[in-house]
Amino acid sequence: MKAAVLYNAKDLRVEEVKEPNPLSHQVKVKVEWGGICGSDLHAYLQGLATEPHPIGKQEPPFILGHEFSGTIVEIGDGIRKYKVGDRVVVEPLLYCGECYACKIGYYNQCSQVGFIGLNRDGGFAEYAIVDENMLHLLPDNVSFEEGALVEPAAVALHAVRESKLKPGDSVAIFGAGPIGLLALLCAKAAGATKIIVVDLSQERLAKAKELGATTIIDGHRDDIVQTILQLTNGGANVAYECAGAQATMANAIASVRQRGQVMAIAVYSKPVNVDMGQVLYKAIDLTSTLAYRHVFPEVIDMISTGRLDVKPVITKKIALDDIVEEGFNPLLNDVKQAKILVRP
Ligand SMILES: [Zn+2]
Ligand SMILES: [Zn+2]
Repeated sequence: MKAAVLYNAKDLRVEEVKEPNPLSHQVKVKVEWGGICGSDLHAYLQGLATEPHPIGKQEPPFILGHEFSGTIVEIGDGIRKYKVGDRVVVEPLLYCGECYACKIGYYNQCSQVGFIGLNRDGGFAEYAIVDENMLHLLPDNVSFEEGALVEPAAVALHAVRESKLKPGDSVAIFGAGPIGLLALLCAKAAGATKIIVVDLSQERLAKAKELGATTIIDGHRDDIVQTILQLTNGGANVAYECAGAQATMANAIASVRQRGQVMAIAVYSKPVNVDMGQVLYKAIDLTSTLAYRHVFPEVIDMISTGRLDVKPVITKKIALDDIVEEGFNPLLNDVKQAKILVRP
C-alpha cells in the first residue's frame, strides 16, 4: 500500500510499504481523510525519535498522521464492539494505563504518552492499524472530512471545557491556526460574547472573522493589549494562548482581567518567561491543557447536532502523493492555510 513515511528531518517519502494486519485487539481501517497537524510539522522539521517508543514498541521510521477517519475493513479475533463497514475516527493517544495519571483517568498526562502517527505507524496511508480502545463511531450525518477534524477539535473543546469560561464572558485568542480557530468555535458554542482574535496573518484573521470573531487584531500592532483591555472593560475573562510564543504568552497575561485565566493550548518548543508580578497582582489563573481526554464522543455529538461546524477550518484538500509539495511546504512557508486534509 502507499504511505507517507518520515525517515528523518525533512525526509518524508510517499512509498509502497507492506500492508499491515491487525492483532486480536486491533482493527484495520481504510483511511478516508487525514489532517496535517502542527505536531506533524514539528516532527517533519526535527525528525522523530530513533528508538522505539515504550508503548508504541515499533522500530522507526513511522508512517505519519494522527488525525484521521475511515472505514473498518478487517477486525482482530478479539473485537466485539466493532464490525467491518463501521465508519470511525481514531483517538490516537498511546498511554500505559498504569502510571499515576492513567490510574486517575488523566491518560493524556501519562508519563509515557505518545501518539500513533508520531510514535507508531499512523494514518497517512491507505490503511492503518488501530487499537480497539482508540476507536469512536461516526454517525451517518458526520462526513469523513469532518471526522478528520474531530482530533484537533477535541484539543480545543477540552481546553474550553477545562477553562473557567462562562456564558456571557469575553475571550481573547492568541493564534488563529487550526487550534485557535477551533477554540474560537468552541468558545462561541460555550456562550462567549466578545471573541477577540490576534494573529500575524491577514488570511487567518479573515477566517477568524468568518467563524464568528467579534474583533480581529493584527499581531503586528503595538496596541494589542490596550485594545483588548478597552474592548473588554478592563480585560478578557479568559485568554487562550494558541501560538506558543513569548510575545503571545506575555500579551495573554497582560490582556486578562483581575482573577482572569490564561489557558495555554499551544506546544512550546522553547521555555517562555512569565511576568509573575502581573500574575500575582491580578490573581491570574495560569494553566494549560495537553491534548484531550474523555471528550471525543462530545465533539462528535456537537458536530452531528450542528453545534460545532468544523468544515470552514478546512482550507485545502490534497492527494497523499502531494503531501510534501501541497501540504507540508505551504504550511511551513506561508500561513494562509488552516487545516489541510490528505486523501490516500
Ligand atoms: Zn493533531
Ligand atoms: Zn500512564
